[in-house]
Amino acid sequence: MTKLNQTHDVTLTSWVLSAQAAGCDFPIQNLPFGRFQLAAKKDGWRIGIAIGDQILDLRQALSAVAWESSIAKMLAPLAAGDLNAHMAESPANRSSFRAVMSEALRAGSPKSADFATKLAGCLVAQADAEMSVPCRIGDYTDFFTSIHHATSVGKLFRPDSPLLPNYKYVPIGYHGRASSINVSGANFKRPMGQILPPGQESPVFAPSRRLDYELELAAYISASNVQGEPIAMADAEDALFGIGLFNDWSARDVQAWEYQPLGPFLAKSFASTVSPWIVTMEAFAPFRMPFTRSSNDPQPMPYLASEANSRSGAINMTLEVWLQTKAMANAGMAATKLSTSNFADASYWTLAQLVAHHTVNGCNLQVGDMFGSGTQSGPKPEEGGSLLELSKGGKQPLELPNGEKRTFLEDGDTVIFRGHCESAGHASIGLGEVRATVLPARTV
Ligand code: CA
Repeated sequence: MTKLNQTHDVTLTSWVLSAQAAGCDFPIQNLPFGRFQLAAKKDGWRIGIAIGDQILDLRQALSAVAWESSIAKMLAPLAAGDLNAHMAESPANRSSFRAVMSEALRAGSPKSADFATKLAGCLVAQADAEMSVPCRIGDYTDFFTSIHHATSVGKLFRPDSPLLPNYKYVPIGYHGRASSINVSGANFKRPMGQILPPGQESPVFAPSRRLDYELELAAYISASNVQGEPIAMADAEDALFGIGLFNDWSARDVQAWEYQPLGPFLAKSFASTVSPWIVTMEAFAPFRMPFTRSSNDPQPMPYLASEANSRSGAINMTLEVWLQTKAMANAGMAATKLSTSNFADASYWTLAQLVAHHTVNGCNLQVGDMFGSGTQSGPKPEEGGSLLELSKGGKQPLELPNGEKRTFLEDGDTVIFRGHCESAGHASIGLGEVRATVLPARTV
């Protein structure tokens, strides 16, 4: 588990002045990684570090400073746009790299003026950048970690036994589809599929009418274990590189018809969207919380338990869902907030437990694999992380500020997730946002 160090010091400031702006997601205590090029010039993908409203371009930074050799060696693949190579570095090496980048962007130190002079020309405005998916995503697994989501969705289908008997013992998941994961801003067409109309016995082929979002986190894997050799809880945190926001778009009507007996398939694989920035596990150190399990519930099996996980396995992270309809956009109205929840309240399992569980049968993870957390719904009804929950299965439409109503998503709707961490005595950090707009289905 990452400990607090000088990079988390609340008093640190950056010579990039926008990093000190109120409410900025990317102060010097954050330092997330993303993959970008200049939108206008298409001048080649490289990795950058978000700082304020700027990006430190690591391609330019490689040659702008006489870095010590170990740092120059780590910068080379980043300059070439390869984040996976950095993810595969040891936790100690990644931590050393973070310490040096923190020093390079810091104001008020003896070296600041020199770094600022050399690196000022290596900044790119985020507004000028085109972002890509931040790394090569290998396999994608989606979990189901919010017991509140599992219970409220279960209630819609099984009022008498909403939570299935395995839920409190085993982290539920399924293998997803990596090829259709897009970066924030990539809009997608409403999917077509087989749908069983209410009261009928045979399905129709039509555009989904119950298109939904799922508020999730993306956890990126930084270790590859040998097949047959599980990652123990003691090593599971080291297998995590960082976290982004994730929208697991879901066609509920397609899902309802296809999901038995093998689970989600085409209802999920048409598109999913990640945020462009990965916040490293080290940056989350000030926001770690105890993982607790009610004494009324079964305690995790030994392979899913560790003292470190109990002490600080959870993360205090506020998550928000915002919606802007086409009519709102046309009228110049800003997005409206649909719900707020917190990762620590919502999730029944920690990310370390997901790593340990995924590998306990000997399954080998690879650097760049991505875990979806499952929809992060909080304990209160208004904290539902999907429209399925907020509209009670489509029975109670949400009223929007302009009088429009929604049960599920309409064409032209833009869904935005945001996430941030706050803790007394520490600098607040954010994950930025993930957004995409639903386009009309293709004409048949
Ligand atoms: Ca999901």
